Amino acid sequence: MQRAPHHPDARWVYAEVSREIPGISLGTVYRVLASLAAEGLIREYRQADGPALYDANTDDHSHIRCRRCGRIVDVPAVDVPAEALEAVRRASGFARVDQVFLEFGGVCDSCMAEAEGGSAPAGSAGEPAFPGATGRAGPM
Ligand SMILES: [Zn+2]
Ligand SMILES: [Zn+2]
Repeated sequence: MQRAPHHPDARWVYAEVSREIPGISLGTVYRVLASLAAEGLIREYRQADGPALYDANTDDHSHIRCRRCGRIVDVPAVDVPAEALEAVRRASGFARVDQVFLEFGGVCDSCMAEAEGGSAPAGSAGEPAFPGATGRAGPM
């Protein structure tokens, strides 16, 4: 887990582990990850969509994900105001609401720099930079 990128999924862990333990099965990796999570040594981070990720940071924290490159960064846990929980409780008709999973989204700084064209020299006006600007009609 030490060499892991921040939030690997089970397949990434499997690929790494199978280099050291040839023949280990993906099922075994899932079981080991689940038991590590149960012991509180790692956190299982269930995404709204996509596979569960495993997190070596066991402190209470939230995540922000770049919607362009998928980079996930830890951010400190955000307290959800009691009024918000109460509003959810009322709307759902639940007896109590005591769990919140927050995931933030946005665009990271490097993707933003890329999107803005960053250091691209101005004045190299040749081809239109935007697909579709040429009026090409693509197949639907
Ligand atoms: Zn990004
Ligand atoms: Zn995390």
